[in-house]
Amino acid sequence: MDKRRIRQLVDHIGQLCRASDKPVRIMEICGTHTVSLLRSGVKSLLGDSLRLISGPGCPVCVTSQGYIDAACELADRPDVTVCTYGDMVRVPGSRGSLEQRQAAGAVVRVVYTPRDALQYAADNPGRQVVFLAIGFSTTAPATAATVLEAERMGLANFFVLTAHKLVLPALDALLADGEAAVDGLLCPGHVSIIIGADAYRPVADRWGVPCVIAGFEPLDMLAAIAALTEQIVAGRAEVQNVYGVAVSPAGNRVAQDMLARVFAPAPAVWRAMGTIDASGLALREPYARFDAAEQLDVQIGPDHQPPDCACGQVIQGKLDPPACSLFATDCTPLAPVGPCMVSSEGTCAAWFKYNPRSLPPAQVSHQ
Ligand code: SF4
Repeated sequence: MDKRRIRQLVDHIGQLCRASDKPVRIMEICGTHTVSLLRSGVKSLLGDSLRLISGPGCPVCVTSQGYIDAACELADRPDVTVCTYGDMVRVPGSRGSLEQRQAAGAVVRVVYTPRDALQYAADNPGRQVVFLAIGFSTTAPATAATVLEAERMGLANFFVLTAHKLVLPALDALLADGEAAVDGLLCPGHVSIIIGADAYRPVADRWGVPCVIAGFEPLDMLAAIAALTEQIVAGRAEVQNVYGVAVSPAGNRVAQDMLARVFAPAPAVWRAMGTIDASGLALREPYARFDAAEQLDVQIGPDHQPPDCACGQVIQGKLDPPACSLFATDCTPLAPVGPCMVSSEGTCAAWFKYNPRSLPPAQVSHQ
């Protein structure tokens, strides 16, 4: 790690912020950035010179409780196997979690890719196999590729319960709401590899907010925060890509074409944010036979929040985790109340693990 360069960037950002006549507020859209900023110490290095706000970019956290309940309902069926990424199994639904269903005898398998679920379906033709398709443009292409592969293989027992989401419509909704005061957006490198840097131009133009794309190393993030702060102080709102080694202006056309072939934009329910137009991905009609909701007749119910859980406000950058009355007391990674404390990319879990100053003394001694 280039400590000298890190110090230069931190000093530069501090000078810019001190010269600003108002506080500088930057939202990191993505959960991977939230965790990287805290784990690497970049957030504490910057101190109070600027405010870093977490956004709606943790895929598990934004998945509605109604979706978790639907997944649990499917898992309860004796002929169904639910395949899911690991973080999802511990998210509490209104009647418990998938992990609790598993303990009661349901067949729930943690997979690393949708292809693992597809292989399980091929190996177990007597079971209905449902893959919980969550995540943004980083994971959706793999789901699309798997659906195409399932079609090629002629599998009749593989389904996806889709909750894939698109982050840009959610950003529009957040910025239109205006409650989360944001001067600049730190944009995620992995999503941008797929959608391309140019995808952020409408957001920058519409809301007058600079967007800078960064990787996940401390130097990458600091360079992007410096670029954002320079723009904010100068009153500019441009799209800048400081992760040019991986992100192109147009993105990955092959992945985009595959997504467009399998999925169509559709309204989606975001936890505590309600339904946002064109912010989700629904299977197109030729692939409807893989749609678990339709084929297995399961309803994705309403989105309820656990009592006193402030995940909705945390997800929208309106509250830092310690402001939740349950943080680190009634809600911990071992006994989570909301998804933000479950997910490895959740803001509450990241604060709990990497920001001991935010914890009550009793919890610090257990760290
Ligand atoms: Fe929800 Fe727990 Fe975070 Fe509070 S601390 S917002 S209850 S996840």
